Amino acid sequence: MISKKAQEISPFIVMEVLEKAQEIERGGERVIHLEVGEPDFDTPECIKEACFRAIREGKTHYTHSLGLIELREAIAEDYWLKHRVKISPEQILVASGTSPILVLLFSTLLERGDEIILSNPYYPCYPNIIQFADGVPVFVDVMEEEGFQYLPEMIQKRLNVRTKGIVVNSPSNPTGNVMDGKRMAEIAKLSPFIVSDEIYHGLVYEGTAPSILEFTDRAFVINGFSKLYAMTGWRLGYVIAPREFIRPMQKIQQNLFISASSFAQWGALAGLKEAADDVKRMRDTYDRRRRHLIPKLKALGFGITVEPTGAFYVLANAKKFSKDSYRLAFDILNEVKVGLAPGIDFGTNAEGYLRFSYANSLENIEEGIHRLEKYLERYR
Ligand code: PMP
Repeated sequence: MISKKAQEISPFIVMEVLEKAQEIERGGERVIHLEVGEPDFDTPECIKEACFRAIREGKTHYTHSLGLIELREAIAEDYWLKHRVKISPEQILVASGTSPILVLLFSTLLERGDEIILSNPYYPCYPNIIQFADGVPVFVDVMEEEGFQYLPEMIQKRLNVRTKGIVVNSPSNPTGNVMDGKRMAEIAKLSPFIVSDEIYHGLVYEGTAPSILEFTDRAFVINGFSKLYAMTGWRLGYVIAPREFIRPMQKIQQNLFISASSFAQWGALAGLKEAADDVKRMRDTYDRRRRHLIPKLKALGFGITVEPTGAFYVLANAKKFSKDSYRLAFDILNEVKVGLAPGIDFGTNAEGYLRFSYANSLENIEEGIHRLEKYLERYR
């Protein structure tokens, strides 16, 4: 009865931890959420105001299937201001989050059996969506011993005639690593296309994160408003693509989604134009939490050999406590009510690790650490 495709797609385990945590909360207990990659901040006022205004002014209809031209112009300007790359609004498609963008992109790019290279660990939805689009994910080991670096020479070994693209995600989920320009330039030369997930751009605490478009135009940039602008629930993302790919993606968008939400787009436009101070405040706060959390986790016995410098995650080695990250995460959730993402969700190379999100208040992080300390007493 149920299609093979639907049966075979893997769940997004982090969401399952969250759903279990919510069930515990419904039973009246307090859970400390360090599992989801979601800002704890409310969306900045100027964005909310622009959205309310749009609704009041009746901007409640379908938009152009590529997205509002005003928003696409502002995205092009944003990449010019931040990276000095010239892109046209005609190279941009706006959708309801970067997640649907991944569906549009991989179903436009891939023939059955085409290969896409990913780092392992990876963002869990990449291989799931690639397979859903009939492609084959091919993994490159990214190891703690090598500082979780995604190395061009390792990628090279995986290239063949079926390689359609290489996915780069910097700052990275789950490692928090930021790739420098030299390495990005080397990777840009390797494959027909690079898919660069730049959703954590702007959340960088040391150094800078270049855009792939500084090195090649045979690239798809995916980006969105969920993280930097604290807009996860608004569902808004975009792709910057080589011109010839926009029309086919647009046709799929028209059929699958029609357009992104109109008033969410008006809000996002205000974000790009007016929210710089809010973004800086949130970024500085994440950085304070990062500096607080890392030494505390080390003191608890977690291994952190490379300190993350971007996004809002710490991928901590928990092998000393358990080699089974799924069981460990659910056991910690059940016993001391702290939500953590099990490493195995991010690939075999993250098995034995737990991912901590510091997109939560210092007080909650402190409480989470305190509860973990209690949980870990059994290993002393
Ligand atoms: N890419 C990465 C690396 C992410 O971490 C996330 C969110 N967890 C997404 C894409 C999807 O974000 P959204 O659909 O909210 O834009």
